[in-house]
This record gives sequence, C-alpha cells and structure tokens, in this order.
Amino acid sequence: VNPLTPGNPAHALFDLFVAAQTCKEVQLKFAELCRHLEVDSQDYRNFYNKLKERLNYWKAKDLWQKIDSRANHSDYEQGKPCAKTKCLVLGAGPCGLRVAIELALLGAQVVLLEKRTSFSRNNVLHLWPYTIRDLRNLGAKKFYGKFCCGSLDHISIRQLQLILLKLALLLGVEVHTGVSFKGLVEPQASGAAGWKALLHPESHPAAAYQFDVFISAGGGRFVPDGFKRKELRGKLAIGITANFVNRHTAAEAQVPEISGVARIYNQKFFQELHTEKGIDLENIVYYKDDTHYFVMTAKKNSLLKKGVIKQDFSDADQLLAPANVNQEALLQYARDAAQFSTGGKLPDMEFALNHAGQQDVAMFDFTCMHRAENASLVRERRGKKLLIGLVGDCLVEPFWPLGTGIARGFLAAFDTAWMVRNWGKGMPHLQVLSERESVYQLLSQTTPENTSKNYNAYSIDPSTRYPNVNVSSIKPKQVGAETWEEKKKVYLSIYSLTRLSDLLSWCQKHTAWCNRVQVKDLSQSWKSGLALCALIHHFRPKLIDMSRLKEKDAKFNNQLAFDILQREFGIEPIMSASDMATSKEIDQLSMVLYLTQVHNAFTETPV
Ligand code: FAD
Repeated sequence: VNPLTPGNPAHALFDLFVAAQTCKEVQLKFAELCRHLEVDSQDYRNFYNKLKERLNYWKAKDLWQKIDSRANHSDYEQGKPCAKTKCLVLGAGPCGLRVAIELALLGAQVVLLEKRTSFSRNNVLHLWPYTIRDLRNLGAKKFYGKFCCGSLDHISIRQLQLILLKLALLLGVEVHTGVSFKGLVEPQASGAAGWKALLHPESHPAAAYQFDVFISAGGGRFVPDGFKRKELRGKLAIGITANFVNRHTAAEAQVPEISGVARIYNQKFFQELHTEKGIDLENIVYYKDDTHYFVMTAKKNSLLKKGVIKQDFSDADQLLAPANVNQEALLQYARDAAQFSTGGKLPDMEFALNHAGQQDVAMFDFTCMHRAENASLVRERRGKKLLIGLVGDCLVEPFWPLGTGIARGFLAAFDTAWMVRNWGKGMPHLQVLSERESVYQLLSQTTPENTSKNYNAYSIDPSTRYPNVNVSSIKPKQVGAETWEEKKKVYLSIYSLTRLSDLLSWCQKHTAWCNRVQVKDLSQSWKSGLALCALIHHFRPKLIDMSRLKEKDAKFNNQLAFDILQREFGIEPIMSASDMATSKEIDQLSMVLYLTQVHNAFTETPV
C-alpha cells in the first residue's frame, strides 16, 4: 500500500498505477487495481463504467471527467457504431496506443499486441499544438505532471507511451506485451471461424481471438502483406541522436532549448561550429526531458574527416553500416556538437544509456523514406471480410528533425478510427476504403499552418481537422477491391484493349530470354507456371533458379511463383496452384488482373 495515501487501499493502488514509470509496473498495478475492485478487465463493454462506479476517489474523478468529456462526443454515439466490431492493433508505439483508445471509445473490442516488454526510447518527440491539446484533454497531466509545462512542446517517446498505455487500459483495451505478430490466419472454414493472428509464442491466448479489423502500427519496418510502399529518395541525409543524463539541477534547467536551428536561419552559428570543431551540420534540435536530447543532420564530409565514418561509399546502407562507423568518434562528434550548441553550459555531459545498456547515441539514414501507397484494404476469405489499416510510421515514415512523426501519426490514427466507425456502421466496404484513401491524400502535406486551428473541435471526423477535405476525391472503383469478382468488375470498367496489348507485349519482351516459354496470350500460356517464373527471373534472377524447373511440374512451378510474388510484393494468388495447372481454361480477366499487379511491382509506370 502506498504510504502517501494511507487508508483506502483502492486509492493507493490507483495512485501507484497513475505514477507507474515502466510498462511492466503499469500492467502490474492495473491488474492489482482490477483485482482489488473486482472488475474484470476483459469485460471491455462495461469495464470503464464499473471502474468509475467502484473507485470513488477525487483524484480518479478528475480523470474520469476528462475521459467522459471526450467519450461523450457525438462521433462515438455512446459506443454504438462499433459495438460488434473486433479489432486487433499491432504495436504499442504512440500511434498504436492512440488508435486503440479511439477504437475503444467507438465501442469496439480492442486487443493490442506488442513484442517488447519495456518502453525504452529516450528520444524526444516534437508535438504540434493540436497534439498537446489532444493529450491535455485526455488527462495527460494527471499521469505526467510535467507534461508540456509552459511553452514546452515535446515529450520523450517513453513517457508518451506510458500515458497512452494507462489511458488504453482504463478504457478496456486488452494489452499483451512480449507477443510478436507473425501474420494473419485466414478463416479456415465457412461459418463461424473468422480471421485470427499467428503469434509468437504460438500458444498465446490472443492467438484464439477472432477479429474483423486489423490495424498495423508496427513502426517503420512493419507493413503487412498486400500494401505497397513508395520510396522517396532525397539527397543524402544523415541523422544523429544523442541523449545525456538529466540530473535536473538548477544549472541544467537554465540552459535554453533549441527548437530547430536550421542552417538557413542561422548561418553564423553553423559556420562557427564548422570552423571551431570541424562539425558541419544542416540543423540541430535540443530538448530537455527525462534526458538532454539532441537530434541533428550531419554532412557526410565532416563525418569522414572526423573519422566517424571510416570509408566513403555512395550507397547509404554501406556508408552507415555498423562496421563502417567508429563508435568512439561518433560519441565525440555528438558530444562536441551538443556542447557547442548549448554554449558549454550543460555540466558534465554524461551519455544516458539506451535499452541495451549502451551510451545512447545513434546514427540514422534519412536519405530514403518510405510511405505506403494505400492506407487501407479489405481482404475477404470464405465470406469473412477483414478491414486492414495502417497508422504511424508504417504508413508514412517521418523525418525526425522536422518532428512530424507524432503529429501526422495521430492524424492518421483519428482518420483510421473514422474509417473503422464507417465500417462498424455498415457502410459498403469500397466506400469505406475510398473515403479513407481520399483523406490519406492530404496527410503528407499537413503542417500546423494548413490544418484547422480550432483544436478543441478536433475529433475523429476528418472535416474537423482538414479544411476543405473532400472525402470522395478517390472513387470506390479506384480502391483496393479485394475479391476477384469485385476486382474484375472494377477492371472491366477501366481496362482498354490497348492496355491489354501493352501488357501482353511487356510479358513477351521479358520472357523472351527463356526458349522454353512462349507467351501467346494472357491465359493458357501461363498454365505450366514456367512463364511466370521466367518473368520473375528476368527481374529478380536470384529468386528463381530456372534450370531446376520442369514444364511438367506445373503445380510446383505455379506455387513457387505465387509464393514469391506474395512474399516479396504482397500480390495475392488468383487461384490455387493446382487449379491453375489443371484448369482447361484459365480465366483471362483474372490473369490480366494478376499480371497487371506483377507488372506494377516490377516497373515504375503502372498500367
Ligand atoms: P513505433 O513507435 O515504432 O512503435 C511500433 C511498435 O510496434 C514498437 O513498439 C514495436 O516493438 C512494435 N512491433 C513492431 N513489430 C511488431 C510485431 N511483429 N509484433 C508485435 N509488436 C511489434 N522520432 C522523432 O521524431 N525523433 C526521434 O528522435 C526519434 N527516435 C526514434 C528512435 C527509434 C529507435 C525509433 C524506432 C523511432 C524513433 N522515432 C523518432 C520515431 C518515433 O518513435 C515514431 O514516429 C513514433 O513513435 C510513432 O511511431 P509508431 O507508433 O507508428 O511506431
């Protein structure tokens, strides 16, 4: 029992839950609180109200007031729109947690999976004014008293995750940590069984959960099958982050923060830094939080000259490969830049430690950023539809020095919640997708200036945030229709004969190298699977060894090609490999559709 709140153990447990500073502690204190109050955290429909009823404590009431004022917004219709919706959210990063909270407010059952067991990122996120208002309105200050005091506009990733985790739990989100998502499991039979997830550990109870909405917020590297990513390649940009221990002394408190000194605004500063220290930067940011956090973009030549990068390569991956980086020189470079930019006023700059117990300095490549081409799609198997959405870094990777990650991440979380609301309300799924994609078009251009300034009016409805949003700029027929029947209908309406003959010529051109293959049409010529394998081999020789394939092994060849195209490009097979190998007549339209996706995966100009 907390000695600060003697008397009522429930109040003490609530205080400990609110004050918990690690992911594990939050979960433990939450479980203890639930046990003590005899509320079942899995009873997601009634959980929050029961908790409220049983915890008659003024501190808790302050928080309930905040949460209720959000929950009573008309968009949520008291949890009716998604009362029958079951969501699986992947990732307890800030965006996964934020979307989970919105889905719970819409009345959905929400299960969230996170592979890690701790929140360990010291790095600090810039917050746009609307995110500060959003988090304040949700009671962030009750969990973290220092939240955006005065003019502060940032928070460490770790603290943000802790705040959002606590809110998610209070709203009945079922959070499982230490569980990795490995893929989707299709419904096995018609009837009751729905979509499930393949997990590690396999026997985890959440593996039995069936859902009709899957939201991936798995960060920059996790994009589920079926989504294509665009690569946005800019000029070489090398980011460095560094965290120093904050002892919270008066001297440290006085050192002013630097919120984005870009080269163009302060040439003198950067010239002096270059002349005095040999450090050449494009920009630098310094925020004070749990740590003293610096993020900067460094020029390659100065990193080479200072011996941070050992050898010059034109390829950014090779350039920044761990073997090509001198860690000691990197520590020195980051310390010198931090010291110079704070006028040497930060006393004994000791590096904070990262999750691996090492000095927290890292170098990242921002030359090539990714964004998903679509924000949503629907898959259907055995009559069961699954709505899939992306949020956060796996939708659009942010450039950290500009601090767009959380701002755009939360916008996408709200837009995704709106999409799920439409889904829950029974809107036809092509319309759900086309509305989501119409709104997604706006995301990459959003700034604090061109989004609405009426932050208090922000809700999951896109029109409260994006002035002049047109939710039908993308038409239902343009979006990821998923069943072949639906796709065929869409294609029938947009495919022209010229395009068909272009597609055929393209296939012929790129399979001509293989004398065992003769592509004459867009149907029967593909039966043995050899043509498809030859096409893949032409673009990616390492993926298929043609010399081992035989024309008579049609099922094997087709399966091989289907598997590769699904794994590498997320292209779903059109039919089973054996159907393809044995069918008397391969459906031309299905084949056209399939080959179109193959074409688009291998070329820059989609047909
Ligand atoms: P994330 O915060 O990356 O969360 C994704 C979560 O999904 C992770 O917790 C991950 O463990 C989990 N996950 C992934 N795959 C699986 C799986 N298969 N199964 C279960 N769980 C899974 N932004 C800045 O603006 N400044 C910075 O200095 C900065 N530093 C960063 C440092 C690191 C090491 C990383 C990874 C990101 C950093 N970012 C930074 C980006 C910032 O953290 C994100 O923009 C922000 O957290 C929003 O991301 P998110 O919620 O979409 O994803």
